[in-house]
Amino acid sequence: MLMVVFIVGCNNSAPNGGTAPVKEPKSDSFFVFDTIVSIRIYDDKATEKNFQEIKELTHVIDTQISRNLDTSEISKVNQAAGKAAVHVSDKTFYVVQKALMYSELSKGQFDLTIGPLVSLWGIGNEGAHVPTKPDLDAALTKINYKDVLLDESKKEIKLAKEGMEIDLGAIGKGYAADEIADYLLKNNFNSAIIDLGGNIFALGVKPDGSQWNIGIQDPKEERGNQIGKMKVNNKTIVTSGIYERFFVENGVHYHHILSPQTGYPVNNNLSSVSIVTDKSIDADGLSTSVFALGLEEGKKFVDGLDNVEAIFVTADQKVYITDGLKGNFDLTNEMYQLCEFSNN
Ligand code: ADP
Ligand code: MG
Repeated sequence: MLMVVFIVGCNNSAPNGGTAPVKEPKSDSFFVFDTIVSIRIYDDKATEKNFQEIKELTHVIDTQISRNLDTSEISKVNQAAGKAAVHVSDKTFYVVQKALMYSELSKGQFDLTIGPLVSLWGIGNEGAHVPTKPDLDAALTKINYKDVLLDESKKEIKLAKEGMEIDLGAIGKGYAADEIADYLLKNNFNSAIIDLGGNIFALGVKPDGSQWNIGIQDPKEERGNQIGKMKVNNKTIVTSGIYERFFVENGVHYHHILSPQTGYPVNNNLSSVSIVTDKSIDADGLSTSVFALGLEEGKKFVDGLDNVEAIFVTADQKVYITDGLKGNFDLTNEMYQLCEFSNN
């Protein structure tokens, strides 16, 4: 059955008041997971050593789950595809388990075995181009989350078919944000902003006890331009969009969220999806899943989950928010319109 979303009551945005000043944080930023990680800790006790330890822990995560390092645990699983089960650390197992869970929940729109397709497109790499149909078809035969076999008691992962490759790009940064948040809490830092290339974890509350004001990126503009903002405390906000990594060929824009069905970038009139929830690994897994599901299916999916809210931005500059964000999300960009979902 074809579901139609009728749009009623699109309102133009109203500019909103400024952000309350907070005291100067201790901050650092560095490059890992192909992205800029920036940490602001609102506590004068934060030291150089803390930032160094955070950097190291992200480096360890990279050596466990990166597909770009031949020696990572995930690469070892991929290298043994079709041959053997590989024992991995508890943490890597957990991330794969989560990625498999979102593959199942999204009925394969999110698929953790997307690796061969990601490699073929090479989006974000120099020389990226549209692959040939035979190459796409060959890659698609290797993608199927149902062929990921997990042995929880042994912490072993096996890929059933040769050539399969797990790619945790859609969930890894969220996991890393959670690990950084855990580190901060264990070290008694309760007020911080963790930002992994736009994947945000707003830890605790501002030093003055008020809520954080988090901006939602304008998918059409350079980083830092916002469509709106929202007040949160102790929440993570993760966005998947068509603007982060893409290339243009013959005037067509090819972005990095790929359909495991067609082999091409997901094409559904969405520009971005932001997820607001408690754990960043979930927000990251969900942002990619919900993006791939599209506006209508994605909204239904989010409504079925506890404590998960979403902001959808369409290519025609409409913004849809789930009920839990009403009264909390402020549209501040007059190029966009806030619209209501309406059931068929
Ligand atoms: P970002 O990396 O910008 O935070 P996402 O969290 O949406 O964005 O992840 C996109 C990455 O996820 C891609 O670069 C690729 O590695 C991987 N990916 C692409 N399509 C899919 C898909 N359908 N299912 C799972 N992972 C995907
Ligand atoms: Mg994601």
